[in-house]
Amino acid sequence: MPVGSPLSPLRVAIVGSGPAGFYAAEHLLSHEGVNVQVDMFDRVPTPFGLVRAGVAPDHQKIKSVARVYEATAANERFRFRGHVEVGRHISHQDLMEYFHAVIYAVGASADRRLGIPHEYLPGSHSGPEFVAWYNASPLDRSRTYDFSGSRAVVVGNGNVAMDIARMLVLPPEELARTDMARHAVAALRNGNLREVVMLGRRGPAQAAFTPKELREVAERDDIDVIVRPEDLVLDPHSLHDAEQHPDRNRDKNLAILGELAARGDRGRDRRIIMRFLTSPVALQGTDHVDGIEVARNELYRGDRGTLRARMTDEREMVPTGLVFRAIGYQGVPIPGVPFNPVTSTIPTEAGRAINPLDGSPMYGEYATGWIKRGPTGIIGTNKPDAQETVETLLQDLRAGHLERDVPARRVLARLVRERQGELTSWEDWRYLDGIEQQMGEEVGAPRIKVARVETMMRFLRERDEGGI
Ligand code: NAP
Repeated sequence: MPVGSPLSPLRVAIVGSGPAGFYAAEHLLSHEGVNVQVDMFDRVPTPFGLVRAGVAPDHQKIKSVARVYEATAANERFRFRGHVEVGRHISHQDLMEYFHAVIYAVGASADRRLGIPHEYLPGSHSGPEFVAWYNASPLDRSRTYDFSGSRAVVVGNGNVAMDIARMLVLPPEELARTDMARHAVAALRNGNLREVVMLGRRGPAQAAFTPKELREVAERDDIDVIVRPEDLVLDPHSLHDAEQHPDRNRDKNLAILGELAARGDRGRDRRIIMRFLTSPVALQGTDHVDGIEVARNELYRGDRGTLRARMTDEREMVPTGLVFRAIGYQGVPIPGVPFNPVTSTIPTEAGRAINPLDGSPMYGEYATGWIKRGPTGIIGTNKPDAQETVETLLQDLRAGHLERDVPARRVLARLVRERQGELTSWEDWRYLDGIEQQMGEEVGAPRIKVARVETMMRFLRERDEGGI
């Protein structure tokens, strides 16, 4: 009986339950004529990846995309196996034995390095880890941040840097009405932060943040966004690009930045200072950061025509005890799965993994999302990306490359339970989701996230014992 026929389901493991994983599941399960069973794994007990642990707490509308994923999870051929880590509880080899195909949708969970002296002095933090912390990711619950100073510096000019800057200056009473982790709301409320300096290594025309995110802070009456007019005078390279290569985001950003420069300092209590053509040279301090030395940059045209930044001799000290490095995410290798250390991605061709040594196809092994294309794009970018991967998988199925016997689903379920007694199902998540929303309702927030795995497990135990 061919795999994918009514009596012989195509069994696919999807590793990672963020947007990329869910779009892959949706595309697979909606395919007419192929009998598919999808088992989705996640190392944390809750689903949705960066929709839950990355998207800013004040961006609830973006998070509502989870409803689409819930519809996918409601399919009877879908199983969620949360709190199961591939590479720890179950190996890549296990997955290859128990499934016809494995799709890695694990994202890019590490952060990039600046490569400057004293980068890791206490007081200097990874931006992605901070985001996970304020979003109540159980992986980052135990970190602490010192908000006792009045100024923080955020290195980077992307949307993550913008999210972090905004979270640091929004009034805590406003944060309390979001689903920001309660430990983060409390820490920010008890702190004294008033000013965030954002450092962009290139110019305003090369900023990676998008106009919507810039406008969001620019339009607030209670926060000043300070831009120096001289920073908006474009160098000849940027001017040339602006004339030759249309780019709506760039032009909108420049227009908003122009308005901000003209508006100047309104003397508000909280502010974001946007600096451009400025790179960190070194962090200062002995046992804790007390400042950041920065250099003025100039732009030059590098390989393939991109404008790159290089430091001039102009230096400056910015006193601060708190630095966030928000310069991008980076993929992490999974034992047994091909990995390209230069791009920090799984090497693929149309979503199918390829042998890094000779480029030959690795049938049955696929990738989608950031671990396939690198950490770029918005949530919606993952939809066509996942469709490409799934189409390749189905093509391999039709060509007979996935034709082999695998154990029944219940055998896999037993193995997983043996390896990780505290795994979570979709029903478990629905139960926790209900508790979180109920707790939120009591304080006027969309939800209060449960940040500790032990607490999640206790809630589930109490339910099973009829306690709650
Ligand atoms: P990103 O968009 O790639 O931005 C990274 C920033 O870090 C860039 O400004 C980059 O400058 C800078 N950078 C890199 N290396 C640096 C270095 N050594 N020194 C100084 N600066 C350095 O990455 P991201 O902000 O982490 O965001 C990841 C993806 O998620 C993006 O596609 C983003 O749009 C998306 N996202 C979207 C939202 C939203 O829609 N609201 C929110 C968060 C994230 P260069 O440009 O010079 O390289």
